[in-house]
Amino acid sequence: MTNEELWQAVLAQIQLNISSANFATWFKNTKIISQKNSQVIVSVPNSFVKEWLEQKYNKFILKILHSLNEQIKEVKYSIGKGELKRTLLPVEETNQLEFPEFKIDKETNLNSRYTFENFIVGPFNELPQAAAWAVAKNPGFIYNPLFIYGGVGLGKTHLLQAIGNEIVKNFPEKRVRYIFSEKFTSGVVASIRNQEMERFKSKYREIDVLIIDDVQFLAGKEKTQEEFFHTFNALYEKNKQIVISSDRPPKAIPALTERLRSRFEGGMIADISYPDFETRVAILKAKSREKNIDFSDEIYNYIASNIQKNIRELEGALNRLIVYQKLNNRSPDIESAKSLLKNILYSPKRVATPKKIIQAVAEFYDLKEKDLIKNSRKREIVRPRQIAMFLLREILNSSFPFIGKKLGKKDHTTAIHSCEKIQKELENNENLEEEINLIKQRIFSG
Ligand code: ADP
Ligand code: MG
Repeated sequence: MTNEELWQAVLAQIQLNISSANFATWFKNTKIISQKNSQVIVSVPNSFVKEWLEQKYNKFILKILHSLNEQIKEVKYSIGKGELKRTLLPVEETNQLEFPEFKIDKETNLNSRYTFENFIVGPFNELPQAAAWAVAKNPGFIYNPLFIYGGVGLGKTHLLQAIGNEIVKNFPEKRVRYIFSEKFTSGVVASIRNQEMERFKSKYREIDVLIIDDVQFLAGKEKTQEEFFHTFNALYEKNKQIVISSDRPPKAIPALTERLRSRFEGGMIADISYPDFETRVAILKAKSREKNIDFSDEIYNYIASNIQKNIRELEGALNRLIVYQKLNNRSPDIESAKSLLKNILYSPKRVATPKKIIQAVAEFYDLKEKDLIKNSRKREIVRPRQIAMFLLREILNSSFPFIGKKLGKKDHTTAIHSCEKIQKELENNENLEEEINLIKQRIFSG
């Protein structure tokens, strides 16, 4: 096997076992640069990734490599040079493997994998699907805005992207743009800083179909909301279509300005609830068929009865069985399926707590927890403390007084200041972003 083939096989398996965000964070721009005797050397883009792969994924990577080639006994990581930064794999190879995040259109931000054709409809999502379809056929004139809400992993992004893809197909002249609401926020912040607000405004006002995902993250960001309100009005007045998703209805989004809330409520609001058992089985069957694999009904029923509230998890379980099938060239029987899925189904839910967050930050910076909490003004402590505060806010949405109290009886203004400082710095410091990602990994894997 060539270096490329080997690493592709490894990545394909890793991808099935970790979230796509993690996959992109830790495995983008990695490759095998040499296989010598029993040792494989993997090139990585920077020291954060190196540290993380060594600490967290090494065992897993080695296990996969060893299963592919018994000779391999050791993996080393080395920081690569500039040219590696650009691409993960040659394009053709990427396509074969279908790394979803690499098939995103630069102009529209749409991923062609999300379509109406592969969106399964059941009683739980019939209404939002029908509304989405109507909008895709007649953008700007039916339901405007279309606001879709529902819990995690239930198909909001899929449906939003399907609208975009369908419109691009039917109306090639229309300019469609899909964005995460956080991306909009960082755009606003960056253009204020660079005094490019006019350019930012006109960029958004030229769009024919604006699709904005996870709008609950605009909560509390007043400047962004104001800008979004103006963009919204400008588009709306010209009969441009706006599609929005959120994890909750507009009235349940805290700190949403009244005028934006009433805009959101002015069109069609449709919610996705939980799929019933039959639909869950139908989804599993459809996804298997897509991959030309079939399992016994007993297995489909087993998965569908154990995973009820999240279609992404349903897919995850199925993918694990697909890997088994590919590696062993046969379908698992129900007993092996149960044991393969044990970890997915019964792993204690990974939840963050204030204690875990503070611990992870302390560990990451090689400090004692009590140092973080002590009243030290040393820079090497102040900064980790600010990061801990930021994470308490970001992950747990803790109140500022609570955050202050947790980190050494500080005043709530200190907590606010710290969170804002880190937030601001994140806008233009990629290293900090990676640092924080690493810490989050510790929080959620520990
Ligand atoms: P959300 O944005 O609500 O968190 P996603 O749209 O990301 O959820 O969906 C999670 C996964 O489940 C995606 O891979 C998506 O393709 C799949 N999925 C969700 N709903 C359906 C559906 N009705 N039919 C087929 N696949 C679905
Ligand atoms: Mg989503």
